[in-house]
Parts: sequence; C-alpha cells; structure tokens
Amino acid sequence: MANQDTGRRLSASGAQAAAGTIASAQGDGVAGRSGAGATGRVAPPQPAEGEVVTGPTARVSEGGPVAADQRPRRRLTTRLGRLLVDNGLISEEDLEAALEDQVESGERLGHYLVERDLVQESDLIRLLSDQYGVPAADIEELQVLSSLLELVPAEMARRYLLVPVQVDDKVLEVAMVDPTDVVAMDDLKFATGLRIQPMVASERAVTAAIERIYGAQDDSQISQMMDDLTNELNAPGELEIVDTDENIDLESLSQASGEAPVIKLVNLILTDALRRGASDIHIEPYEKRLRVRYRIDGVLYEIMDPPKSMQNALASRIKIMSQLDISERRRPQDGRIKLRVQLEGRLRELDLRVSSLPTIWGEKIVMRLLDPEGLMLDMTKLGFEPWSLQRFKEAIVKPFGIVLVTGPTGSGKTNTLYSAMGNINEPSTNIMTAEDPVEFNLVGINQVQVREEIGLTFAAALRSFLRQDPDIILVGEIRDHETAEIAVKAALTGHLVLSTLHTNDAPSSINRLVDMGLEPFLIASSIQLIQAQRLVRRVCTKCRESSPAGKEALIDIGFSPEDAENITVYQPVGCNECNNSGYKGRAGLFEVMPVSESIREMILNRAPTSELRAQARAEGMITLRESGLAKIWQGITTVDEVLRETVA
Ligand SMILES: [Zn+2]
Repeated sequence: MANQDTGRRLSASGAQAAAGTIASAQGDGVAGRSGAGATGRVAPPQPAEGEVVTGPTARVSEGGPVAADQRPRRRLTTRLGRLLVDNGLISEEDLEAALEDQVESGERLGHYLVERDLVQESDLIRLLSDQYGVPAADIEELQVLSSLLELVPAEMARRYLLVPVQVDDKVLEVAMVDPTDVVAMDDLKFATGLRIQPMVASERAVTAAIERIYGAQDDSQISQMMDDLTNELNAPGELEIVDTDENIDLESLSQASGEAPVIKLVNLILTDALRRGASDIHIEPYEKRLRVRYRIDGVLYEIMDPPKSMQNALASRIKIMSQLDISERRRPQDGRIKLRVQLEGRLRELDLRVSSLPTIWGEKIVMRLLDPEGLMLDMTKLGFEPWSLQRFKEAIVKPFGIVLVTGPTGSGKTNTLYSAMGNINEPSTNIMTAEDPVEFNLVGINQVQVREEIGLTFAAALRSFLRQDPDIILVGEIRDHETAEIAVKAALTGHLVLSTLHTNDAPSSINRLVDMGLEPFLIASSIQLIQAQRLVRRVCTKCRESSPAGKEALIDIGFSPEDAENITVYQPVGCNECNNSGYKGRAGLFEVMPVSESIREMILNRAPTSELRAQARAEGMITLRESGLAKIWQGITTVDEVLRETVA
C-alpha cells in the first residue's frame, strides 16, 4: 500500500475486511504453487526441443492462432522422434502413437515419452546432450546465488524453461529444456551481458528447479505483502470456480493444497471488488510498480499496489483461472471465469470476463465482473421519465420496425436492451440475439456470440437469423453499411429489430445512418424510435448535503428562474456507505425520439439534425440534459454529474 496520492484512493479497510472469504476448490488446483507450477501442464508449454503445439491453446483475440510457427516445430519433433528410434530408445510404433497423442495433449514429445515411461529420462538427456554437443546439467540439488537470481528473473526462467547454474569468467551456464533455443539465449545474453553456455536438462528437472529456487523467493515477498495487507486471511470461506470446460490436472490439484499467497491475493481482490460493487478490476504493470484499480459506478479508484515482483505470478494465476495460455505473453487473450462466492453470508454466482494485453511493462489484466444481480431488468427503475418510458414501451411491442439505443460505451445500452427483451420475452415469441460479447444469459432467448475472426459478423448472424423464423432480433451494434442494410430488410419483412449505434444523441442517429449509406426512404420506413442514454452517479443519500449552488449557475445549466429559486441541489460528501466517494449506484438519463409522421417526412427530405431535434422537441421529446435536470430536481444526482454527461 503506497502513494496516497489521489483523492480517489479508497481506504484499505475494505480490503482487510473482505478477508479471505474464499478458498477455492478447483481453482487452486489448477494453479500449482505460486500459479507457476502449472507451467508445463495446464497450458500448452513453450516450444522447445520441437513439438507441434496444437493443444487446447487459449482463445487468441487478435492476430489469429499460432499457426505460423508450427512448421519448424513439426520438423524438430520429427527429428527428435527419428533420433530416438535410430538409437533404439523407442519403437517406430510407439513414436507414431506418441506423436498422434501428443498433438492432442499439447505436451512436448520428450516430456510426453518420459512421463509415460516410454523413455528413461537419463537416456533422453544423454541423447540430447550428444546430439547438440552440450553438457547435461545435474540440477536436482542446485543451489543458486541470489545475485544470479536477480540477473535472471523468474519471469524469464519460466518463459523459456531454464535455470541459471553458475557464472564463470563472464560465461553464464544455463540448464535448458531446449538447448537450441536461440531466442532464449539471445534474450538471456542481452539481459545479463554474459556469454551463454547452454546445458541440457529434462523438463521435469527444470520445472522443479524453477519452483524450488524462484518459488521460495516469490513466496517470501508475497507473504510479506500479504502480512502488510491483512492478517485476517485465514478466515474460512468459499470461492469455487464452476463450469470450467477443461480437465483439471489431478496432480497439480494435490500440489496446490499449500494455498500460495498469490492465490490468496487474487481471491482477496475478487471478493473485495465484489463487495464494493466494482464493475471492473484493472491490474496494471508500470516500470516500477504494479497497480490495482477498481471501476465503481463508472469511475476508477486506486485500491492497492502489490509488489512489482508479484506481477507475473498474479497474471499467471488469473490466466489459469480463466483457462488462458499462460505461456503466451505477447498476444492479447480473452477468457472467462465463472465463480461462486460466499460473501456476507450469501452465495453469489458471478461471471468474469478476463482480458490480457501485453503492454511495454508486462501484461495488463482487466476483469469485468458480470454480476447478474447488477443487471436491472425492471424498466420502470432505469430512470426513464414517464413520457419517455411510455413511448419506448409502445415501440418495443410493435410487430416490426427498428428500435435503436444509442450512446457511448458504458452508457448502459446493454442493460436497457436486456430489460426491453425481458419485457417482451414470452413463450410465443422467438427472440434471437447476436452480441459481442454475450454478457448475460437470458432464459428463453437464443443468444449468439459474434466472432469476426471466423466470419461470424453481425451481418452474417443477422442473415442466418432470417432463416430461423424469428419474431424479434437483437443486433449488438450497427456499425457498417452491410449490417444496417440487413437490419432494415429484417424490419421491413415483419421483424422487430433492436440494436445500438454510437451517436451522441437521438436525432443525430438519422444522419449517421445516412452516412453509412442507407437511403433516406429505407430509414424513414423502418425506424420506429431512437433512444439516447447516459449514466450518472446517484449521490449517496446517507451523506449528501445541500449545495450552495448559485441561482445563476442553475439557470445557466437550464433551470428556469423560478425552479432555480426553489430547488434543493445536493453535493456529494462521503461516508462508509459509499466508500467515501459520495456516490452510490447509477441512474440513466434518457432521450426518446419516436419517429412520427412529420419526422418521417423530414427524413425523406434529408433534413439536418438540428431541424430533426427541434421537431422532436416540439412533439414532446425530453433531451438528455432535460432528463438530467429532472434527476437533479429529484435529488438523485448532482449538477457536476449532469454537466459531465450532457450538453445543453
Ligand atoms: Zn455516503
């Protein structure tokens, strides 16, 4: 805990009180010690003496899978296999079977054969030593000087599966699983400034040595940090990972009973975030520090600075929980964790969407907490003004047409659409959604995850939907001409289409669609209603105080002189109830524009946005700003919040 530098930092007491509440069942199992024991197991290992790595690699969100590297590995695998056969260590048949099986398991060939007693470990090492002309390293009892450990960081040892043995006259002797890995040797040479003498050792021996040598180092640092953070971590509690769709390695499960400090820390972060009502957790590496921040009611708060040395263990632990490839650190990855958490006497189910992104100082991890309890499906509680709610409800029960929800990311569009679907979801309707991502599972609705990388775009999903006899279609977002065109086609052929756009307000959406290349007559005939929205934070009712806001200022933001005279305006203060932020929860501001006959006419005549807005207001539309003023009037939010989110 350091740097009390910003006013937004929350007190640490929450973190302490959240106490270890959790002890994971399967989750710990996968991790092994310090989240690193699994190096060679759960995730497909690094390419080494040369194997085809096609195992259950994680979802790589960008740049596609690892195909490009595979050809040389396959050749190397074949070479090792050949060597083993030629030297009479295994039979041709065993090799064939092993190669086939090993592709499935994602293990290295050498490791595969040794694990199954098809080859003696000592024979394999002797063979590799002869073949590559490097000495075999005996590292079973290896003791390494701490100065050498600083020179070769744990992260590098784990990434390349190597351990430093000793330095002799500017030459660093290194035991490696793959003594031909020139990339590893280059990195090592660069990091240490020493010449590298590779030696060969088995994967088992190297992994064990890394654990023994670096594990102790990590553990002592982390323990220190955890002691600083809290001493209540031994409280029993439950956190269980559910719905994992991969086999858990039983061996690493039994190894994990030690409850490494990093596991406790991850559990602490998760329960603490949940308890505080965070929507996102950011774990961010910088040059000299590691920072954990939570997003609460739309605003990021610094929560803690774990030691920089924990960075990789923390990232690995989270990646293991979300079934990501822990050896892949250069590409972004996306995963998911399903958890059951016992919190404050209640069992809660929780979905986390996990994203890892390589930054220049290491992997940044962001976890979004998808808490079904945080989803507000009751439309009357979203914050609609009665006029707006009435119009919106009328539009979503029409048998055809398009209803658009617009606003920036994080403005609550998904929540509004889900509540709309909840409102119209009946056994007699077929509702299909194409979403990116699918955030919550809704009972009775067919939800499809868009996957651009395999060609399943919004447009492609929409096209298939039309062959599935839907009544109501939700398209996550209209962002190109193709999607817009199919959405219109669907709307004009008797389907209700719900979707979102990225625009600032309702009237400007019309010309956004024109810019996408849609003909005005198609827009005029298909769009039923456009709704724009924003979220503002609710001022905490436990601690709010009336604000001495000047009458002039209130008139400036849009109140009438009489209203400005009579209104009580609140300002945030901060108490225990609201994490000292002065705010708790959020409310929506809504601008609902039904496409009336006269607006249809104006669309056909290509009217500018300003004229569309004026007409909509004349017909009763409440603007985002006006919706904000209504919330200030009701004491729900503050002037600052409304100014931040809306324009006059
Ligand atoms: Zn408060």
